[in-house]
Amino acid sequence: MTENTRFKAGELLHLRGQSLSRGEPVALPLVQSSMYHLPGQPDESPGYGRVTNPTWDHLEHVLAHMEQAPCLAFPSGMAAIAAALFATLKAGDRLLVPSDGYYVTRRLSERFLAQLGVSVEQRPTATFADGGFEGFAVVFLETPSNPGLDVIDLKEVSSAVRSSGGITIADNTTMTPLGQRPLDLGVDIVVASDTKSPGGHSDLLMGHMACRDESIMEAAREWRTFSGSIPSAHECWLLHRGLESFEVRFERMCTTAGVVAERLQDHPAVRSVRYPGLPDDPAHALSARQMDRFGFLLSLTLESEGKAEAFINGCSLLRPATSFGGLHSSAERRARWGDAVDPAFVRLSVGCEPVEELWSALKQSLDNL
Ligand SMILES: *Cc1c(COP(=O)(O)O)cnc(C)c1O
Repeated sequence: MTENTRFKAGELLHLRGQSLSRGEPVALPLVQSSMYHLPGQPDESPGYGRVTNPTWDHLEHVLAHMEQAPCLAFPSGMAAIAAALFATLKAGDRLLVPSDGYYVTRRLSERFLAQLGVSVEQRPTATFADGGFEGFAVVFLETPSNPGLDVIDLKEVSSAVRSSGGITIADNTTMTPLGQRPLDLGVDIVVASDTKSPGGHSDLLMGHMACRDESIMEAAREWRTFSGSIPSAHECWLLHRGLESFEVRFERMCTTAGVVAERLQDHPAVRSVRYPGLPDDPAHALSARQMDRFGFLLSLTLESEGKAEAFINGCSLLRPATSFGGLHSSAERRARWGDAVDPAFVRLSVGCEPVEELWSALKQSLDNL
């Protein structure tokens, strides 16, 4: 990865300030308007709220700085994923999705794309490249997979898909552009849920799509305008505010996750731990090559479903909740949603609590089992 493709976190904080005129507010204004003053012939100026909004334009400017690629904002991660799929697929195409990735992507594909004539196939992340990619119009990737934390080689897979004439879409929600840069590794489109760590305060749903191909971006922009899948100005404003502290939060979360993963491994109540940063994790070597950080998500398997529930609910610094990436650590048993994992498998999203304070709360709850 070359230095100049990395976004600069300091510059992100000054993207707006650098273009201000005297007397303008330093903080991003929240503009709530469906109409714009538009006398005479329409031109490039804003015309209608479904097409453009100054608050969302600036958010996209910041997202584009992070991705180092043009970005479109959406009202949720799934809205971004839907836009990427509907903008790239047509009847007769074959789509490959991970069988162990975010389940709503599979549901969307099977429920709606299949009935429009797209054939949808699935493969597990751990053996994703087996069988090659010949004949697939679109290959959808998610790495590390959620919740299993298996990893796909983005460089190898995107180049194999490209040479067989297809395009790749990577769901980068778990790593974010701070932890992994799929576009720089050859992936065509990045989609992500900003509901998670980029928002970070568990008070909004948002998503975005990033892509360096102009015609794909134009199709996705048309999809957004025509389907009406647009973010609200208020959500854009909130996400923008979250992004200003994102680098600080992400650093803290990843560093703490590394410490917690190592200590969990040594606790007698824990049967196994998955974290790409652990030297003996099956995904470690590849993760070290393609990821900038090892992330803030880890999983641990306890002795039984009952003990897993007791661990989560008995820890004062863990919110028993689905979703992840908040300032506050959270955890859940993924089997409760039907994921193909052990009933005692817990996904833990490490938050921004000071590491020793968090560890003593986790240890206390494990000691009590
Ligand atoms: C949460 C999530 C999504 C969906 O995002 P929403 O903002 O909830 O629509 C997609 N992919 C992954 C990996 C996720 O974790």
